[in-house]
Amino acid sequence: MSLPSSTELSTQTLEALAGIVGPQWLRTGEEAWKRGTSTTSVSRRVPAVVFPASTREIVALVELANARGLALYPVSTGRNWGYGCGAPVRDDCVVVDLSRMNRIVSLDAELGLVTVQPGVTQGMLSQYLREHQLPFLVPVTGAGPDCSLLGNALERGYGITPHADHFGAITRLEAVLPDGSLYRSAHGDLGGQRVDQAFKWGVGPYLDGLFSQSNLGIVTELTFVLARKPEHLEAFFFWVRDDAGLEDAVGAIRETLRDLGGVVGAINLLNPQRVLSMVAPYPRDRVPRGDVLSAELLAELTSRHGVAAWTGTGGLYGTREVVRAARSTIRRRLGRVARRLMFLGADRARLLSQWLPRLPLGFGAKLAPQARTLSNVMSVLEGVPTQMALPLAYWKSGRRPPEGAPMNPHADGCGLLWTSPLVPMVPELVRTYVRTVREVTARHRMEPLITLTSLSDRCFDSSIPLLFDREDPDEAARALACQQALLDTCRREGFLPYRVGTHTMRWLAEQAPQAWRLTENLKRALDPRQVLAPERYSGL
Ligand SMILES: Cc1cc2nc3c(=O)[nH]c(=O)nc-3n(C[C@H](O)[C@H](O)[C@H](O)COP(=O)(O)OP(=O)(O)OC[C@H]3O[C@@H](n4cnc5c(N)ncnc54)[C@H](O)[C@@H]3O)c2cc1C
Repeated sequence: MSLPSSTELSTQTLEALAGIVGPQWLRTGEEAWKRGTSTTSVSRRVPAVVFPASTREIVALVELANARGLALYPVSTGRNWGYGCGAPVRDDCVVVDLSRMNRIVSLDAELGLVTVQPGVTQGMLSQYLREHQLPFLVPVTGAGPDCSLLGNALERGYGITPHADHFGAITRLEAVLPDGSLYRSAHGDLGGQRVDQAFKWGVGPYLDGLFSQSNLGIVTELTFVLARKPEHLEAFFFWVRDDAGLEDAVGAIRETLRDLGGVVGAINLLNPQRVLSMVAPYPRDRVPRGDVLSAELLAELTSRHGVAAWTGTGGLYGTREVVRAARSTIRRRLGRVARRLMFLGADRARLLSQWLPRLPLGFGAKLAPQARTLSNVMSVLEGVPTQMALPLAYWKSGRRPPEGAPMNPHADGCGLLWTSPLVPMVPELVRTYVRTVREVTARHRMEPLITLTSLSDRCFDSSIPLLFDREDPDEAARALACQQALLDTCRREGFLPYRVGTHTMRWLAEQAPQAWRLTENLKRALDPRQVLAPERYSGL
């Protein structure tokens, strides 16, 4: 394989890097080059990757970067799939992969607080909780068991368990600053470890927030609140027959969230293409190259797989009595707008997925994928990380690893770009948003897969995965153009992203130069040599 030209690091610099982390934890050549690639199809030149094992080694790396004018780009597990994966924003950064720092530093079971290093994954925490029989939920995401908790929280990622807002659940963090000094909160400095862990805001200016979606430090550990396993958990699913029912469904979701508060986790609303991506293979042989599902084919597939115009799902958490009462609220609110409404406990979901495939006359086979999806959704609501959402990334490529093998959309060559606009929970605005996405994707001949996830009773975050063949340069270019058009059009309509990919950070900075001025000033003051993640969420 021929590698693109890369800025060579001098032998002395490579020796100095190896001297800090150990020669076996320095990678150059093809492995470094791969780090610069991503599911987005945009690549960066990466001259080297280092894997430090301690805060001391990180400090030494930062000091070296200052002395030699290097730029470093920290990642936790580097699986920011669809947003740039582990690739830096700019060429020629040394990637600092923190996956070796994977200790669960402490777990305070009395207060429900866990402190983790960057390399701790959802899967590791899940195993720890199981082994120690601790009654907490992992704050899972669709990205699956091998993704970090820390990197996801710093990106302000979210899931659908009760603590859906992952940065919101953080109470404290520690970081190495661009000059090599250490940051921790005033409460931490005062020696009040338990108060520091239990109380998010500390005392004085709230500074922990400076390290999320930023480039002002390398975070070495953080503490977050774990949601307790409820006495009872029930999933609910609802199906809205016609697209015209969207506005009423949005109104009913808002009322439900207002009525039920913390009893209901986030509610997800999915369009037909998004549901099909979970229950049926992409019919490649019936879609002309470079085109999308025709209206007729879409109608045929939705009818065959029993997919509604909008499919909704969420979880109810509480005591049995509370969940029972919540169920009747849901019936009253969502039952009004849905063609069907279903409640499902964990045991029933698993039974369904085991027994349906065995039904005779092909009936079971038809419903089996839906039943499996219901059972998988149940696991996510229970805070058990699974790979259930990852097949989405493979829907168009069809090149999935064998059943049960770990999925890695980046390594497996998937083409994926996430766009994540926030949409106020106002029925007419949601309609405008959906229309916009449909128009823009149709213009660029990309499939419109739409999910709306409630972040509160005021706002949805929507996620649009643009799926394409990474080996087809035309399709990759079309996907990037489509994303740019989505960002621009949504911006004009007021639907702004909660997070962006590394290749669109410049776009973000150009949109609101005034707003980025303070960020720029902070960056200049704290990192005058631009040694940490240059151009990441920064006007500079
Ligand atoms: C099918 C699918 C479903 C997905 N579902 C979800 C979902 O439900 N919710 C969601 O949020 N995301 C989702 N994702 C997106 C993404 O894969 C996850 O957010 C993932 O957790 C991010 O990767 P990571 O944990 O390895 O973080 P990293 O890639 O390690 O970190 C993300 C970024 O944060 C910064 N960073 C990381 N660690 C540090 C540090 N220690 N110090 C300073 N900066 C740091 C870096 O700039 C890095 O690029 C999904 C992706 C796919 C393909």
